[in-house]
Amino acid sequence: MIGDPLRHAMPTAEMAADDSRRPDLLFVNPPSPDGDTWIRCQHRAGQRAPDGTVWPQTALAQLAALFPDREVAILDAAARRSSWQQFSLELERRPPRWYVTLVAGPTLESDLLGVALAKRAGTLTVAFGPAATPVALELLQRCPALDFVLCGEPELTLRELVDAVDACGPGPTPDACSSDDGQICHLTPGLTAIRGLAWRRDGEPRLNAPRPLIPRLDDLPLPRHDLLPLAAYRGPAIEAPAAMIVTGRGCPGRCSFCLKHVTYGHSVRLRSPEHILSELGFLERLGVRHVYMQADLFTVCREQVATLCRLMQAEGPRVRWSCASRVDTVDGELLQLMGRAGCRRITWAIESASDMLLWQNGKGTRADEIDRAIALARAAGIECWGSFLIGLPGETDETVPQTIALAKRLSLQRVIFELAVPRPGTPLWAQAAGRGWLRQGAHWADADVCGPAILDYPWLRATRLEHWLERAYREWALRPGSLWSQLQHLAPARAAASLGVGLSHT
Ligand code: SF4
Repeated sequence: MIGDPLRHAMPTAEMAADDSRRPDLLFVNPPSPDGDTWIRCQHRAGQRAPDGTVWPQTALAQLAALFPDREVAILDAAARRSSWQQFSLELERRPPRWYVTLVAGPTLESDLLGVALAKRAGTLTVAFGPAATPVALELLQRCPALDFVLCGEPELTLRELVDAVDACGPGPTPDACSSDDGQICHLTPGLTAIRGLAWRRDGEPRLNAPRPLIPRLDDLPLPRHDLLPLAAYRGPAIEAPAAMIVTGRGCPGRCSFCLKHVTYGHSVRLRSPEHILSELGFLERLGVRHVYMQADLFTVCREQVATLCRLMQAEGPRVRWSCASRVDTVDGELLQLMGRAGCRRITWAIESASDMLLWQNGKGTRADEIDRAIALARAAGIECWGSFLIGLPGETDETVPQTIALAKRLSLQRVIFELAVPRPGTPLWAQAAGRGWLRQGAHWADADVCGPAILDYPWLRATRLEHWLERAYREWALRPGSLWSQLQHLAPARAAASLGVGLSHT
């Protein structure tokens, strides 16, 4: 592999070119589809990362931790900036028995290319992720090289699958288990019983019964962060060497656009503060200096966060950390605790200046809560970023400028404007599909918050939404004092184009 000087910066067990071992399981983040930086994540939607953020692959590390009895490796080809040719050669040189990859919507084509290359190298192939779960059968139909899809929470399903197949020895393959001549080998009943699994039987994709959620997240082993190229994970929001800790799964909110509906419904499960603290200690020993606290909603439970902060403070905060939150789930005391425990930044999910839009789309926060939360965070020494959505149902040419004006008025250190995107499995998808709001010719896999827009309202066309996205960044960038920092959010070509348009229009 070439082109990644960070790869050897830390001792890591990540798959290395001179390592001759053939892993039983290889957990894979494939190369970039187009040379840009892309985010694939089990806990958020996949998207292009115009600001260059290389996102920690904690979901792969969590899966790897389920196999202490096997030879496991993680290949984060995207973080290593591997080319597809290098990736293919590496797979052929040391094909694993199992190739496990996270599928995201906007990277779907390249994700499935990775699967095809792995199959050509003779591996069993597995996909998972919130983008794969609602369309598992479609994926199996579309990609003959894909053997299995893990629907919902992937950890226990994968463990049962590997145990069931490998119990048959090295010979059986899924093809042998579900051959076209109708022969079903003795393994098939075992596969049928694995909840949450999509697979092929007699060549036909089939979906088993859903898997219940893991009752206690503390029962999961700590993710194998040591297998990840931690020094490569960086971006405006995370400072290398960086890692992501998943503090909980699920959120009671009902935001119609949120991907949490796909895997967690309305459930919420939290890890204990002590369990999170032990993961922090592990990361510190690996040299990590920045942690992103990932949860569908980090501050969903005040008691969990407050206790965690007190424990961190008692030990002396040694890592900086950041998180995302919503403005109605914090108070001054909690924010003070967070600040003293090392929280450096909160990205507030503000979405819109319109209370009506927020209520109509299930968010339920109010504009007047925003100023309060931001003032309290600043008083606690915490930097504030804001994220905004353009194009939720009900959006108009009048509401978008209000949102842009709000972003400017709040004097946030950084803003993130994104297009509202309907994803399969979310209420917004059902609404958009039912009312004919999907752009003609658009496919669910095209859904990317950076565009192109796939929502297309009769009163606000997709091209208009794209115009507003560009304009939002342009207006923000042209605020005095924030021009150059905010241009980092745009890919170079778009940044130049945007600036050009902006200047010609002012
Ligand atoms: S607050 Fe809304 S967007 Fe955030 S995790 Fe909960 S449901 Fe999703």
